[in-house]
Amino acid sequence: MSKYDYDLFVIGAGSGGVRAGRMAAQLGKRVAVAEESRPGGTCVVRGCVPKKFMVYGADYGTAIREAVGYGWTVENAKFDWPKLRDAIQSEVSRLSGIYATILEKNGADLIQERAEFVDKHTVRLTKSGREVTAETILIAVGGRPWMPEMKGSEHAIMSDDAFLLDEMPERILIIGGGYIASEFAGIFAGFGVKTVQAYRGTRLLNGFDPEVRDAVNEVQSNNKIDLRFGVSPTEIKKSKGGYIVTFDDGTKIGTDLVFMATGRKPHTSGLGLENAGVEVDKNGAIIVDEYSRTRQDNIFAVGDVTNRMNLTPVAIREGMAFIETRFKDNPIAYDHSDIASAVFTRPPVGVVGLTEPEARREFGEEMTVYTTKFRPMKNVLAGDPQRCFMKLITEGKNERVVGIHIVGDDSAEIIQALGICVKAGLTKADFDRTCAVHPTLAEEIVTLKPREENKTTVVSKG
Ligand code: NDP
Repeated sequence: MSKYDYDLFVIGAGSGGVRAGRMAAQLGKRVAVAEESRPGGTCVVRGCVPKKFMVYGADYGTAIREAVGYGWTVENAKFDWPKLRDAIQSEVSRLSGIYATILEKNGADLIQERAEFVDKHTVRLTKSGREVTAETILIAVGGRPWMPEMKGSEHAIMSDDAFLLDEMPERILIIGGGYIASEFAGIFAGFGVKTVQAYRGTRLLNGFDPEVRDAVNEVQSNNKIDLRFGVSPTEIKKSKGGYIVTFDDGTKIGTDLVFMATGRKPHTSGLGLENAGVEVDKNGAIIVDEYSRTRQDNIFAVGDVTNRMNLTPVAIREGMAFIETRFKDNPIAYDHSDIASAVFTRPPVGVVGLTEPEARREFGEEMTVYTTKFRPMKNVLAGDPQRCFMKLITEGKNERVVGIHIVGDDSAEIIQALGICVKAGLTKADFDRTCAVHPTLAEEIVTLKPREENKTTVVSKG
């Protein structure tokens, strides 16, 4: 009989923690999962899921407007934010309940309390004061929104708040040029809110392929988002009926709501990591090896708290690899390369593999870039000038495909399948001998020409 209360104690019932907890319980391990908030974590409760519903909501607005071009007469269309908000929250509650049930059904104890380390095998549950011991501890506490210190920052909201607004503002100012800022700018603009997105750089989505970044700038502008580049806020002041935000170049913007989307940080403060000898880096991220093991042999960490690749499916895969490593005597170092992902701007961005600068660094001149830009067929009758951008990067004489980047309708769906191709190491010749599906937007990916030969602005495609 083990001298510990549990074989595995998981701190955090988000995507990674719940997957690992459930799998360990299925192996017959005695498992507890502690959660201070609602089960489901960032993705289910205040991230991917409610955000995607808001994207759908905004897309309906666009579809209603554009339906006129397809012969529809749409009268008295109105948007009711509280109705959408409450519907989303009700679905979030249902999903959160499913997360709790999954654990319980598999025999894991869900402890709805915050847990903090006492030592490397012991956690204290802060509400009840109870101390619990475990042979193995998995930290899966995720991250939380962060904003820089600034005069008046208490007036700003962050992404957690955006799902629960009492009412839609008439005007919003979103600070940041990353995932969250760009996605929410698209959402609010889609709801008819006068949206300004202010970013300290010159192209949105730092870290993405430069041409994708240009295309996303166009997407935001096409959605009537007022983009301001090269500025950082220095002060937020309450004014009659709203706020005035001052920027470092002296400009001022009046708005009804200020949304700081300036990044997320690992949620490690106050966790008592020092009591357990678990080390963090300068951003507060837990330092782990390729098996997600911390500096302590019995303590592991997965998901956003490790700040490797902050995506839900990655946290889940890291959690699964942890189970293999720790409980199945099958060490697995999860491979973080070629992971397809999407940014849900409107239309979205879908990417997998290397950007052009990354490929150039790795392969020098031994690479070829294929691109196209065209107005999708659907947009023609809709009267939408938005164009779709596609880029494919190959390396070597064999032309192995090492990167695909799409900005356009359904790109988040398309890139999932293309991720398989890149992961499988397929070549441009494999793409070329694949027959097109016509008329679709995705068919362009099997007929791409090198960028140099490409005259852009191709005719409409489905
Ligand atoms: P990001 O890191 O993507 O963006 C943060 C933005 O804030 C950047 O534009 C950054 O500028 C800017 N910024 C940072 N500090 C300051 C400052 N002091 N003053 C002004 N601007 C500042 O973070 P997000 O919060 O948007 O997203 C966090 C992570 O969550 C993402 O990296 C992603 O992994 C995940 N996520 C994934 C989604 C998806 O898969 N669709 C959706 C949402 C989040 P700069 O670029 O110059 O550094």
